Amino acid sequence: MRCPRSGRSRLLLPWLLVLLFVAGNAGCRTRPIAVEPVLVIHGGAGVPSKSELTPEGDRAYREGLTEALVAGHAVLRQGGSSLDAVTAAVRVLEDNPLFNAGRGAALNRDGVAELDSAVMDGATLKAGAVAGVRTVRNPVDAARKVMERTPHVLLAGSGAEAFAVSAGLPVVSNAYFITEARRRQLQEILDAPSRRAALPASVGFGTVGAVALDRSGHLAAATSTGGLAGKLPGRIGDSPLIGSGTWADDATCAVSSTGQGEFFIRYAVAHDIAARMAHGGRSVDAAAREVVLGTLVKAGGEGAVIVLDRRGRFSMPYNSEGLFRGWIGSDGIPHTAIHER
Ligand code: ASP
Repeated sequence: MRCPRSGRSRLLLPWLLVLLFVAGNAGCRTRPIAVEPVLVIHGGAGVPSKSELTPEGDRAYREGLTEALVAGHAVLRQGGSSLDAVTAAVRVLEDNPLFNAGRGAALNRDGVAELDSAVMDGATLKAGAVAGVRTVRNPVDAARKVMERTPHVLLAGSGAEAFAVSAGLPVVSNAYFITEARRRQLQEILDAPSRRAALPASVGFGTVGAVALDRSGHLAAATSTGGLAGKLPGRIGDSPLIGSGTWADDATCAVSSTGQGEFFIRYAVAHDIAARMAHGGRSVDAAAREVVLGTLVKAGGEGAVIVLDRRGRFSMPYNSEGLFRGWIGSDGIPHTAIHER
């Protein structure tokens, strides 16, 4: 017996076919739908006050940030991975002596540059980091090699340096990293420890970082730093510690931090932001602000984060005087900010 079709089922049939077609294709799809790539970077929370920053200084910092944005975004525009984009952007900032990473890094109490860096891939949760390296020209590249070529996450000191050499990365003498401005900064700290106690904690901050979303919808993060100026030799900050200064997980967000590393370590800042999104249903902005303007402020920790989610929404809260930062998205135009809220 044939079943007579009602008018309603005749109306529903085309929609049902469309649904079956979409569901079938989704099942066969091997790659996620392409998304608009986004890159967000920072050049540290240790910004001079508005009155201290000269127009020339302002311009130079913005040019440095722009150069990094353009380098990272070129990778994303050509369909490259978020991991390649954050590595490219951070490498540019490491090479720029204005920022506290690579050349121009803050010096430890003995006048030596000891550098930390980490990368994390949000698609796989793989991560790599180096800490306390003194001769690796671009620590972010060494972090990346640790991730790709070893079963480990973090290599430190001479072992990290030997590994970088074996991986074919360029090494330099420690003098390469040291600038006159950093020497003067250290001298001021050593000469007047009591004056330093009266200065904002951000004197001596820096760090650079990047978070990116690529066309395939994958997130990545990278951070690199000379650490706190005047630190004890051997001190390692939050930047190379996964979950403190660096984090990326496609399920939630990518994070790079800057500020007083000891607070970021103890409060597991980067992972706390991701956890608030995962378990508390927070938006990227709510999660980032709760931690930087709530948890950290209550604890007395100064600093900032940049955070990006898989839909390209980002947040850059800071509880310091300002934050050197920049972003580039669908308009393809590099944007920078320092003190602006
Ligand atoms: N967070 C870095 C550290 O503690 C310093 C900084 O951001 O300036 O090593």
